[in-house]
Amino acid sequence: MSRFLNSKYRELEAYTPGEQPTDMKYIKLNTNESPYPPSQRVLDAVNSAEVAKLNLYSDPTCKELKSAVAELFGKRSENIFLSNGSDDILNFSFMAFCEGSKRAVRFPEISYGFYSVYAELHGVDYTAVPLNEDFSINVEDYLTNDATLVIANPNAPTGLCLSLDEVERIVAANPDNLVLIDEAYVDFGGESARDLTDKYDNLLVVSTFSKSRSLAGARLGFAIANEAIISDLEKIKYSTNPYNINRLTLLAGEAAIADNDYYMDNCKEIIRTREYTTEALRSMGFYCTDSKANFIFAKSDEIGGEELYLALKSRGILVRHFTKEKIKDFNRITVGTREQMDALLAATAEILKEKRK
Ligand SMILES: *Cc1c(COP(=O)(O)O)cnc(C)c1O
Repeated sequence: MSRFLNSKYRELEAYTPGEQPTDMKYIKLNTNESPYPPSQRVLDAVNSAEVAKLNLYSDPTCKELKSAVAELFGKRSENIFLSNGSDDILNFSFMAFCEGSKRAVRFPEISYGFYSVYAELHGVDYTAVPLNEDFSINVEDYLTNDATLVIANPNAPTGLCLSLDEVERIVAANPDNLVLIDEAYVDFGGESARDLTDKYDNLLVVSTFSKSRSLAGARLGFAIANEAIISDLEKIKYSTNPYNINRLTLLAGEAAIADNDYYMDNCKEIIRTREYTTEALRSMGFYCTDSKANFIFAKSDEIGGEELYLALKSRGILVRHFTKEKIKDFNRITVGTREQMDALLAATAEILKEKRK
């Protein structure tokens, strides 16, 4: 730390992204990326003709991509916000819709690690609300409070979902609080709340092209909400970096929308692979939550979470282990291809066998 750092950031603990080690070639099951490449149309879109235009700024209004996203979801462009990954949208939302102790924020205690980082970054009072014993979210905890609410649905790293009715109950009970639903994983089995944005002006649904649309490296997130909420987000974007989606990503996003069926088919395959792997892990004695995301959250009584993580890593397989006390026995395993999961299962069986000796 230099002596020049603003005092309000001195204690800030930044988010820790999943590791990207380069000492060997790993089977990467630690950051919930898609194992499938972008579609051919995306590869063609990001072609040399567009690369040759990189001397020109991108369209800050994102007109074409906005209208493509709007059409896909049956909305109007005024209801769509686009940004450089959904992390960017979450950051803007904490800036826009939270304020010190005046407008505090509540989110589940076990959830996406970035929520508390953004709260700290922007000096927002926050409550990390404990989950039920089985890691489910208790809807009652979000009905009578005066705070902005942030809920990942499906939740991460548990993979558990609230039903659309439960989400609506929360939104309806909070007419004077903004409710942000983070749907990064919704395409793997959850129910989207996006159509509730037609009915409720306090709902902001945030999602991403990173997980189900194979564009994690392109950085593209989108949000759906009532026009007033979207214009607040635009105000923050135009006050920080109006060109925050680059030309290539804008075109890649449009092509990905045009190829929606390809991505939704990949999601179906990932769901099948998730069920296959979960069943295999359970038959090896693992406890797995009923995940509706592209990852499995698993623990075994025979081996500690960190021990399994390290043993898999030494065998060239990366999974995500969290040190938080309540989930330290678990690992979060991204669902890859069937072949990758067979390698994970074989390595896990081997590790357990050695342990039993
Ligand atoms: C991956 C993830 C994001 C961030 O996605 P990007 O669009 O890549 O920034 C947001 N929320 C949750 C819950 C995630 O798991």
